[in-house]
Amino acid sequence: MSAYEFTDHVYDVVVVGAGGAGLRATLGMAEQGLRTACISKVFPTRSHTVAAQGGIAASLSNMGPDNWQWHMYDTVKGSDWLGDTDAMEYLAREAPKAVYELEHYGVPFSRTEEGKIYQRPFGGHTTEFGEGPPVQRTCAAADRTGHAILHTLYGQSLKQQAEFYIEYFATDLIMSEDGQCQGVIAWKLDDGTMHRFSAKTVVLATGGYGRAYFSATSAHTCTGDGGGMVARQGLPLQDMEFVQFHPTGIYGAGCLITEGARGEGGYLTNSEGERFMERYAPTYKDLASRDVVSRCMTMEIREGRGVGKDGDHIHLHLDHLPADALAERLPGISESARIFAGVDVTKEPIPVLPTVHYNMGGIPTNYWGEVLNPTADDPDRIVPGLMAVGEAGCASVHGANRLGSNSLIDLVVFGRAAAIKAGTVVDPNAANPDMNAASVEMAMDRFDAMRNADGGTPTAELRLDMQKAMQADAAVFRTDKTLAEGVEKMEAIANRMDDIKVTDRSLIWNSDLMESLELANLMPNALATVVAAEARKESRGAHAHEDYPDRDDENWRVHSLAVVDGAKTTLTTRPVHLDPLTKQDEGGIDLKKIAPKARVY
Ligand SMILES: Cc1cc2nc3c(=O)[nH]c(=O)nc-3n(C[C@H](O)[C@H](O)[C@H](O)COP(=O)(O)OP(=O)(O)OC[C@H]3O[C@@H](n4cnc5c(N)ncnc54)[C@H](O)[C@@H]3O)c2cc1C
Repeated sequence: MSAYEFTDHVYDVVVVGAGGAGLRATLGMAEQGLRTACISKVFPTRSHTVAAQGGIAASLSNMGPDNWQWHMYDTVKGSDWLGDTDAMEYLAREAPKAVYELEHYGVPFSRTEEGKIYQRPFGGHTTEFGEGPPVQRTCAAADRTGHAILHTLYGQSLKQQAEFYIEYFATDLIMSEDGQCQGVIAWKLDDGTMHRFSAKTVVLATGGYGRAYFSATSAHTCTGDGGGMVARQGLPLQDMEFVQFHPTGIYGAGCLITEGARGEGGYLTNSEGERFMERYAPTYKDLASRDVVSRCMTMEIREGRGVGKDGDHIHLHLDHLPADALAERLPGISESARIFAGVDVTKEPIPVLPTVHYNMGGIPTNYWGEVLNPTADDPDRIVPGLMAVGEAGCASVHGANRLGSNSLIDLVVFGRAAAIKAGTVVDPNAANPDMNAASVEMAMDRFDAMRNADGGTPTAELRLDMQKAMQADAAVFRTDKTLAEGVEKMEAIANRMDDIKVTDRSLIWNSDLMESLELANLMPNALATVVAAEARKESRGAHAHEDYPDRDDENWRVHSLAVVDGAKTTLTTRPVHLDPLTKQDEGGIDLKKIAPKARVY
């Protein structure tokens, strides 16, 4: 065994991650008197949730008629009928409660004239089961909703005596021989010490894995660490082929340029200076839906009409708009373009690229956040002691496509649900189980091998190869050919993990080692994504397959499960939950309303 000494910690619950999901779970656990630790590799309020601007969906009816059934219908349709019906009902029903709780905890929501929480319209959110006008359902704290939620939840968690381990990097789960989660191992980044956390329940709230791609709106810390930890235990990842792209991320940097830029009159051009969207979408042009615009941009690039020296991106023009209008309506965008693209938007176009924005797939869970390890006989078998919430998890409420503002509500509804469940299954008076020494040893051997990795490939080089392969082949727009190429490339790239080179051997602020461990986590997420995409012979939600342009409910209304071992991925499926929580005659939704049909907006 590698010679590392441990500092030991004993808790009822250990939450890994301090974004919206992790903090809401932490707060709920601590409120019930469970001894709770929250581990985060960055300061809690620097988690990616801080970047969420638009808002959080809940049918409060503050701006007009709304109800949870309409929200549920929109979510089902948004998911392209891949979400689990019970989980989607739970989300829509519990959303108002979860938002009012946030209000009472102190989130400074924007207000209406009467002092109610202000709500704005968002894409895909409607009335009358998609038959009525758009609804104002998205609660907002100006354009800083995620920021406001994080700061409030962090303060409240401290008040409830939750203990924070900040700038600790969780490396691996500790699992018993019979598959129960017993805790985690973490490396303290600023002094190099190693820590063993014993827990009756571990909650993974580690966020998405946008950084598997070259261009992502998410923070550099979004490296799918929870998915990596789960994959290393032989547990599956679910629906990983569904990756949401936003049309306009800044080329290279990936920062988001809001849809509002096109709303204000911006338009896209190719290398011939052509406004190509007119050709694809004569009516809505540059304001067609996100997935459509992203697909058209990708087609232009593939057909050799991309801009730039490598012909690999597109131009977004705002330079025809009056300078004072830009300064007034799009000041943030103008600033981002200047800082991240070196562009003065009043004079030049912004280089943009469809950019990875959200991962619908993740660690499979039920609607209590309990992690699943399905078998053919028991597709809902639970992994004892392990939960997953937020973007890391897959409950699944977003199915094949997430609606805007449905992620923030997912974080708080399921963070809260995990705490409610833990309150019933975690006994604060029971002793913590003895940790499985073999599991600890395996984790430390892996850590030590990475620390001393002395191959020929620098981490940054391999990461870039992965990001470029994913961007090119597991993209917005997919074909049998690109996906087969993608699988081949990604398997070769994953095999090169054995040849990785870490130059810094120290344990203190060793960003080289941390990025290498993050790459090791990104790898199974990326592999599962491209392999599951290659296998799914239909188009559904974000998975737009050119060779199979239609949705195929008969064969493919199933969750895909991917178990990744090194460079090898094994796929199985799990049935979609079709039953709601509440029967119609007991106040539930009319199932006829949410029966599958064509998804048109
Ligand atoms: C630019 C942008 C704007 C968005 N706007 C909206 C919006 O308006 N509305 C909406 O609904 N959604 C929006 N989304 C989506 C939404 O913000 C995210 O899905 C959500 O914030 C994810 O939250 P999370 O708690 O799951 O993870 P995160 O907020 O990403 O937090 C992950 C946490 O895990 C910790 N962590 C990860 N790995 C480790 C490890 N190995 N060891 C220790 N700690 C670890 C990190 O330190 C961090 O605390 C937006 C996303 C982006 C990128």
